[in-house]
Amino acid sequence: MAENKILGIDLGTTNSCISVVEGGHPIVIPNAEGGRTTPSIVAFDDQANRTVGEVAKRQAIKNPDRTIQSIKRHMGTDYRLQIQHRSFSPEQISAAILQKLKTQAQTYLGEKITKAIITVPAYYDDSQRLATRHAGEIAGLDVVRIINEPTASALAYGLNKLSQEANIVIFDFGGGTFDVTILQFAEQVLQVKATNGNNQLGGDDFDRRIMDWIYAKFKAGNGFDLSNTSVVSQRIKESAEKVKVELSGITSSAIQLPFLDYRSGDPVHFDDVLTRQEFNTITADLVKSTALPIETALKDAKMDAEQIDYVVLVGGSTRIPAVQEFIKGYFQKEPAKSVNPDEAVSIGAAIQGGILTGEIQSVLLLDVVPMSLGVEEPGGKFGKIIEKNTAIPVNRKRVFSTNANGQTSIKLHVVQGESQKASENISLADVTIGDIPKADANVPQIEVTFDIDVDGIFFCTARDQATGEEKSIELKRTTGFSKEQVKKFADEESRQAAEEEQMQNLIAAQVLAETALADAEHALAKYSALLPPEKLGAYQSNIVNLKARVSTLGQAELENIRRQMEAVVAKLKSMSQQV
Ligand code: AMP
Repeated sequence: MAENKILGIDLGTTNSCISVVEGGHPIVIPNAEGGRTTPSIVAFDDQANRTVGEVAKRQAIKNPDRTIQSIKRHMGTDYRLQIQHRSFSPEQISAAILQKLKTQAQTYLGEKITKAIITVPAYYDDSQRLATRHAGEIAGLDVVRIINEPTASALAYGLNKLSQEANIVIFDFGGGTFDVTILQFAEQVLQVKATNGNNQLGGDDFDRRIMDWIYAKFKAGNGFDLSNTSVVSQRIKESAEKVKVELSGITSSAIQLPFLDYRSGDPVHFDDVLTRQEFNTITADLVKSTALPIETALKDAKMDAEQIDYVVLVGGSTRIPAVQEFIKGYFQKEPAKSVNPDEAVSIGAAIQGGILTGEIQSVLLLDVVPMSLGVEEPGGKFGKIIEKNTAIPVNRKRVFSTNANGQTSIKLHVVQGESQKASENISLADVTIGDIPKADANVPQIEVTFDIDVDGIFFCTARDQATGEEKSIELKRTTGFSKEQVKKFADEESRQAAEEEQMQNLIAAQVLAETALADAEHALAKYSALLPPEKLGAYQSNIVNLKARVSTLGQAELENIRRQMEAVVAKLKSMSQQV
């Protein structure tokens, strides 16, 4: 059954969350540590062993240089991480997070499940969407759909089932990104009307303000700057986030950071209190800066704030009281927050999965193109072909010709953005249309179809208008990987995942063996007087021997040790019978 299920994955900047529909209802799948969201953090140790999630977050203080956070900010770019002698792309790091979530789901459901819907910010461009799809594929997921996070949130709130027309704003303020989307529900269709945001604004910026406040307070109190080592700044960052979260519930919070630095060999501590009022003052501009993307989105949707019927808050940073107050004031409306803001996106993605599998009956969902798409025209002008905010899937045709006699191929530079100048937009791909029969300039009439699929990913086809014949297309994307590269990374990832599983098994076997040996030692000590001395000696040396081997347990030894452990258990049984 589970094989037909589709996982809903919110691959977040700070945290990720995974849900699935069970018995017609979405449920959040907890991680091994019991958390309902998993930090989007990947870390490597000095042996290049990988940890993901809670465990990676916990070791971040000790290992800041090999701990990777907020990789989502780099999706769709050529950014590479150098860890020891290996280089990692954002797709591979995201794949490690997705791999962890997939395993978590399979453990929880007790079955193999690989189909998934992954969410992305509504304004993600083509390359960012493709990079997300590739990350899923590298993690061995069958990515059935990429959907916009605000659309998922609206689904989580059941806003696809309203009985009348409604305008909805989704205010999604996470750890690293801010996303505002205007949706319209009409005639059983939920349509994204406009989207805007700032992918460099989020809860992290609030943490940084508190960090700056701590640095300034420290300097004022001690007369010198805190040493800016990565360990110190990581400790301060953690404490800043903790204080920020506390200030959402209480009006002042104590910050105690002992042994932060040393002066002439003596430890220096930090001990102060941050009030909510002061926190609001030092972060007021961050809250206010959300207004411009809201205004732009409303303008693009041709709406006023008063026309909005529902305001939905999503993302951990919407728990900040000043943010809630600001939104309430802006729209003059009480925002909806009944669904846990950290889980809404993933729950919505799972609901979309349920709609696709038929487990949930619901309406059609339409997303839109987040940025206009077109080609670079002679003189560097941007020739728009698909307008921003057009519902997807969409295709538009445009006829191109040659500009020299005997020319057999046409090159197009496809870009995405709103500037009149092609160079100021995002370069997506170089497309070469080939097999054009030799003719005079401007004679061949090649009709190119520009497609944006349901995932918001671009591709194109071409045909000769005169003959109807399909023309060959070579599409070279400016960033991102080819199918072959993705396959290679997927193979690597699957090997890595298998190694990690073996490692987990080893650790589990080690823990089990150590516990059993400790029990055996305890039993021997307790009953030693009742056993013949030669047997007691043999048992004891057996246990000492096994303990030494268990502590350096390697994969090759695992089976061997298992057998010996069984022998010890058997001996213990016979010993207890003798006793
Ligand atoms: P998300 O990306 O939606 O998981 O949001 C993560 C961000 O929300 C992080 O910056 C968290 O520090 C922040 N966050 C989570 N809970 C709270 C809270 N109670 N108050 C303020 N910020 C929070």
